[in-house]
Amino acid sequence: MEHVGKEMEKVIRKNKWNDRFQLLVSEVLGHPQVQEFIEEHKDIMTEEVIEKSYAKLYEFVQERKKYESGDSSMLAPGYEPKLFLNYRSIDVTYVPTKELLARQKEAAIRQRVRAVDIPKDVREAKLSEFHLTAERMEAIEEASSFITAFKSQPKKFQKGLYLQGSFGVGKTYLLGAIANELAQYGFRTTLIHFPTFAVEMKQSIGDNSTGEKLDEVKKSPILMIDDIGADSMTPWVRDDILGVILQYRMQEQLPTFFSSNFDMHQLEHEHLRQSQRGDDEPLKAKRIMERIRYLSKEIKMVGINRRNQE
Ligand code: ADP
Ligand code: MG
Repeated sequence: MEHVGKEMEKVIRKNKWNDRFQLLVSEVLGHPQVQEFIEEHKDIMTEEVIEKSYAKLYEFVQERKKYESGDSSMLAPGYEPKLFLNYRSIDVTYVPTKELLARQKEAAIRQRVRAVDIPKDVREAKLSEFHLTAERMEAIEEASSFITAFKSQPKKFQKGLYLQGSFGVGKTYLLGAIANELAQYGFRTTLIHFPTFAVEMKQSIGDNSTGEKLDEVKKSPILMIDDIGADSMTPWVRDDILGVILQYRMQEQLPTFFSSNFDMHQLEHEHLRQSQRGDDEPLKAKRIMERIRYLSKEIKMVGINRRNQE
């Protein structure tokens, strides 16, 4: 902001009262908002004050022009130039515009949802835009009552939801919408696509970052585990990754959501019991399932496959 002033001073010093300067002065003083400002403060507006403020008034007029035409070469894009009285001279201040504030607020809200390997439409999901059908009623009601209860008592343990339903009914979308709604109230959610997360955990062994990555997920204030059961798990992923996450969340009473194509019974008997090697491990499956049951409430979502609808 300085350079405009300096330029103007140079002009004043070198070409005192020449034509070009006269032209600038008349443009600046003829600007409606400058006139309005001088009029508003006419009791202290001596010629001396106005003369002393030429550089600032010039800056104001130039920046105002850019602001009004949406010129991005503005000194402070997103800020509206305004005049104010700075002791006994006129100065320019840059006030954040409503649009900028709204954008900043939106960005802060978005940052509260950490969506890992989740498609863009889900990252932008909104509960208010959730297409309601009779079949979705229960899921929506449960989601709303979770949000209401959690908002009023975030420290009190609330069971999350275990959304069960076939491919494309909108489970992931609903999780995203809940996360975005909670973000509006300042709560942080991590939403992970479990099969991808499992692969990343395996890869993280290579650079020794498993513990750190696991910690980040397990400690998230709200955690959503999407698509559990979609890929077969190794015993390591089941017991040392999933098991550890769930154990921690139970101990710390942290809200945890799930989505799966399997219902809870199927998940236990058709998925968790069978390890990739073909072993049957009913006890290990039962332990995991007990934790999932403790943490969440099973909700069936039925409906058409929406993937080809939108
Ligand atoms: P699922 O996780 O159950 O397989 P998705 O949540 O991925 O299903 O939803 C399938 C598709 O339908 C996605 O493209 C999603 O954006 C869209 N979708 C699902 N539910 C809604 C909804 N209520 N309103 C708008 N679009 C939706
Ligand atoms: Mg899904």
